[in-house]
Amino acid sequence: MTDDTIFGKIIRREIPADIVHEDEHLIAFRDIAPQAPVHVLFVPKTPVATLNDLQSSQADIIGRLALAAAKYARQQGFAEDGYRIVMNCNEHGGQTVFQIHMHLLAGAPLGRFGT
Ligand code: 5GP
Repeated sequence: MTDDTIFGKIIRREIPADIVHEDEHLIAFRDIAPQAPVHVLFVPKTPVATLNDLQSSQADIIGRLALAAAKYARQQGFAEDGYRIVMNCNEHGGQTVFQIHMHLLAGAPLGRFGT
């Protein structure tokens, strides 16, 4: 992969991360600044800067991220209590790393979101 973001560096093991899952398509690791008791990022190995850049032929990328997050929630035992999946896009969405990723937030009742 040619992604030059911080997540690309994590995938290439150029910087450390607390990795909880990896397969041929994606990697999952704990967020360095957790916003909930559980905060894991699911990142595809295919470089795509933002959701705006995702092609229809790449729909499986999002499906794989969601399925991996749901599987992790089941494995860790918080699927029944529930969790939140978030994808931020560009400035108003609060995106800071320009390689698409899914946030998995869990471990406590989460507040409503918005501005
Ligand atoms: P975004 O704001 O783009 O939706 O999410 C980027 C996330 O990446 C943020 O929650 C931020 O805390 C996390 N992050 C940024 N740099 C690093 C890093 O070097 N390691 C890890 N594990 N997470 C990071």
